[in-house]
Amino acid sequence: MIKSSILTFFRISLSVFLLFCFNKSFSQQIFSKNKYPITDFRQPLDITPPALAGSFGEIRANHFHSGVDFRTNQREGYPVYAVADGYISRLRVQNSGFGQALYINHPNGFTTVYGHLQRFAPKIARIVKDLEYEKKSFEIDEFPDATLIPVHKGDIIAWSGNRGSSGGPHLHFEIRDTKTEETINPQFFGINIPDNIPPVIHGMYVYRLNGKTFNEFTPKDAIPISGTNGQYKTNTPVSLTGEVGFGIVTTDRHNGMSGTNGVYSIQLELDGKVVFTSALERFAFENSKAINSHIDYPTYLNTKRSIQKSFVDPGNPLQIYSNLISNGRITFNDGAKHELRYIITDSKGNSSVLPFTVNAGSAAVVAPIAAPAGTIFSYNQVNEYNTPDIKVIFPKGTLYNDLVFNYKKLPKPSGNAWSEIHQLQNRYTPLHVGFNLWIKADNLPENLRSKAVIVSTGGSAQGGIYEDGYVKATPRNFGSFYIATDTVSPRIVPLNVTEGKNMKGISKMTFRISDNLSGIKSFNGYLDGEWVLMEFDTKTATLWHSFDERTTPGKHTLELVVADAKDNTKRFKINFYR
Ligand SMILES: [Zn+2]
Repeated sequence: MIKSSILTFFRISLSVFLLFCFNKSFSQQIFSKNKYPITDFRQPLDITPPALAGSFGEIRANHFHSGVDFRTNQREGYPVYAVADGYISRLRVQNSGFGQALYINHPNGFTTVYGHLQRFAPKIARIVKDLEYEKKSFEIDEFPDATLIPVHKGDIIAWSGNRGSSGGPHLHFEIRDTKTEETINPQFFGINIPDNIPPVIHGMYVYRLNGKTFNEFTPKDAIPISGTNGQYKTNTPVSLTGEVGFGIVTTDRHNGMSGTNGVYSIQLELDGKVVFTSALERFAFENSKAINSHIDYPTYLNTKRSIQKSFVDPGNPLQIYSNLISNGRITFNDGAKHELRYIITDSKGNSSVLPFTVNAGSAAVVAPIAAPAGTIFSYNQVNEYNTPDIKVIFPKGTLYNDLVFNYKKLPKPSGNAWSEIHQLQNRYTPLHVGFNLWIKADNLPENLRSKAVIVSTGGSAQGGIYEDGYVKATPRNFGSFYIATDTVSPRIVPLNVTEGKNMKGISKMTFRISDNLSGIKSFNGYLDGEWVLMEFDTKTATLWHSFDERTTPGKHTLELVVADAKDNTKRFKINFYR
């Protein structure tokens, strides 16, 4: 009797518990393959409540966002704290990218990364500057051993900034697996971001695949949906026949934030069975460009709308997929009614659902077999293409799908051109890595061979090396290419200094530098004949020297030497007083 009532009590408790869970807007833990320590790390900033301007795995141009972006109230200069004990394992200064970044190795097997920093803590700043003077280089990438800069949880290691490729002041923060360098969603480590808003579903699409490779010609239809606050629906059942794939447009919002972030997982069910899951728990940097295979890339290029496909290209190397049945491709040919459901979850476990009914047709759709016009490239092998004018090698792993490759030769452009235009495929086919391209040079004079560069008809330089009558480069995208030459030196424009100016009370000398074609390869500054640190920011093309004890009161000369990738060099000399 006692036993039985305890059992009843447990039964009731269990149902109350389940009801509670259900009522909390499908609240569930985000799923993961691994266990992570949730109490080891503190927040890297003291701004409360912490808020994200960018979430882990968010869709960016050509990559998944590799960390979280903490908001810093549109300002720079917030103290950045070591999130746990450890040691500075990497010091990095770059013209773009993270700008100034610190990496800390922790004894628990994880590495934390802090990017776009305004300045380092004094001890670290001194070490960085010494290294820059030792190497005579602004850009450095050093890996100190464990004894050089140990840190304790809560130490100020830097101040937040906007350096490198940053679109506004914020702290970029990552947690990586120290061994594999895979980057991991920081929200698995107890880094708590207030968010009880479920993801928003903006649109759903169906692609008529019918056994074929996905590309820019795949027929696509929008399926009208409506709904809000976690619950979405199609307006009517959907009638489909043949093999299809689905795609979804979805973003997440956080409490009190106007901006949008990315979602954590997308799951598609067919008649109660999962056929596709993508989840942004962790990824390898070398796979990040496969975002162009994860999304409908042709539509993204045309409209900037990111439709996340729920079917996987055969050459997509991302490890974010699970529960795949037929790679997410679904065939409707049994004349029956099927219940499908999208479940979208954010990194806090808030979910949105979109159930919909498909009325399947009863005829098998056989795609008409059209004779392919072009050369067939298989995604899983090395592909080569040769003509008397060009040689092209696509390494294995370049393509996400098989491709019917098309090539066309177009007339030589007028002006600075030393070959015809070679049109390789089109921009809608994404590539995972660069391919090797040799273009035969047409009457290129010997004295210009070292100045040759392959450019795309859009005007961007792809690099170039002259080899036996050909110019070789490694473009990262398809396009139309020809040989040009760069014989023009970079430009140097002083911004706050003029000949003979007294710079007393001014903290730095600033210049703008630019190049017409091949791009800036190096810059060096010499103060009274001695190398001095010039800092550079690619996004603003600004080059500057911050005065320190090296500039004593009196007259000084600064000489700048800026070279482009084809070794055209510009020298600029100016006298000033301090
Ligand atoms: Zn970031």
